[in-house]
Amino acid sequence: MARLPEEWTAWVRERGEPGYRGKQIFHWIHRQGVLDPDEMSNLPKPLRERLREDGLAWPIEVASTHASSDGTHKLLVRMPDGERVETVLIPQLDDDRVVTQCISSQVGCAMGCVFCASGVAGLKRHMTDAEIVAQVLLGRREVGSDRRIRNVVFMGMGEPLHNYDAVARALVLLTHPDGLDLSKRRVTVSTSGLVNQIDRLGSDFQGQVQLAISLHAVRDDARSAIMPVNRKDGLAELTAALRRYPLSKRQRITIEYTLIRGVNDSPRDAVEMVELLRGIPVKVNLIPMNPISASDLRAPDTSHVVRFQQALTRRGLSVFIRKTRGDDVAAACGQLAFHGESRRTVHPGVSRA
Ligand code: SAH
Ligand code: SF4
Repeated sequence: MARLPEEWTAWVRERGEPGYRGKQIFHWIHRQGVLDPDEMSNLPKPLRERLREDGLAWPIEVASTHASSDGTHKLLVRMPDGERVETVLIPQLDDDRVVTQCISSQVGCAMGCVFCASGVAGLKRHMTDAEIVAQVLLGRREVGSDRRIRNVVFMGMGEPLHNYDAVARALVLLTHPDGLDLSKRRVTVSTSGLVNQIDRLGSDFQGQVQLAISLHAVRDDARSAIMPVNRKDGLAELTAALRRYPLSKRQRITIEYTLIRGVNDSPRDAVEMVELLRGIPVKVNLIPMNPISASDLRAPDTSHVVRFQQALTRRGLSVFIRKTRGDDVAAACGQLAFHGESRRTVHPGVSRA
């Protein structure tokens, strides 16, 4: 299902059908969210049969859905080999007809960040381009016709740039004008900072895809202690990559900073963050750390979070405190993990299939 329109065109031509049928198939899948060949009513029956023989089918299915009291929906999706990941639908606070979807790119994650449930779990496997895109097709079905998914963020399970090829193809599919047609600026790739792949993303998409960097610490020793990736690509290399990322005018890189009590929340950290980011067009999101069962690390008090924000804004950064959404169904940042494993956060009263 992850063929591009031109690839579908080649596919139908090889089977003796006119080329325009290729675009019709792409349209059914990515515009209509229809993957059952029998429902593709404008295609001749033999072609529908060929599609079925080719194995066209949903690459993932919804195993269960979990509604949070704040309107956030978590979908647990299952892949053909039984692996499961999660995707989260987050209605905009001031207009719930507009939805942001958080999607996964890997089962688990190899990066090993100590504050993150996916990192603690380790990498099981990459997801395919089809599995990644299908999360959004299923998400769109879930939100229904009177609401729409406007933003997609790669902030679920996994490090998207570690699965570069599948993620890059998924980006092309998600933003294709004949398909879901999401705006590139409204698709955010969040990375722990794989420098070569940041460069690749910048050149492959001319900087049009929104980039978010998980910074989380502003000195190499501190960052390496909580994010092992920093031992390979340190802060000097990372900030150099951000400086050369081909941003268009008015566009800014998002800096994510998970605040962890006693680890990265001192006044000195605030001052050094301003120094580190000087001259890079950024907006900073502070995320008070969501608790995970595998770690004793915790968020600072709210008043401390606000003081940290003020220390940054006073020095000229634009800084937002990201409200935790969906934490009553373990759908908040960093809480997504393998379904059913003991290391995850399981909240009482939430049914799990
Ligand atoms: N692997 C990518 C994207 C997935 S994580 C990345 O690291 O950027 C999405 C965001 O949630 C990242 O900024 C990540 O650092 C953050 N995060 C991970 N665990 C968290 C936790 N326990 N509390 C708050 N944020 C967390
Ligand atoms: Fe992986 Fe991101 Fe979690 Fe780090 S924060 S372990 S990179 S998912």
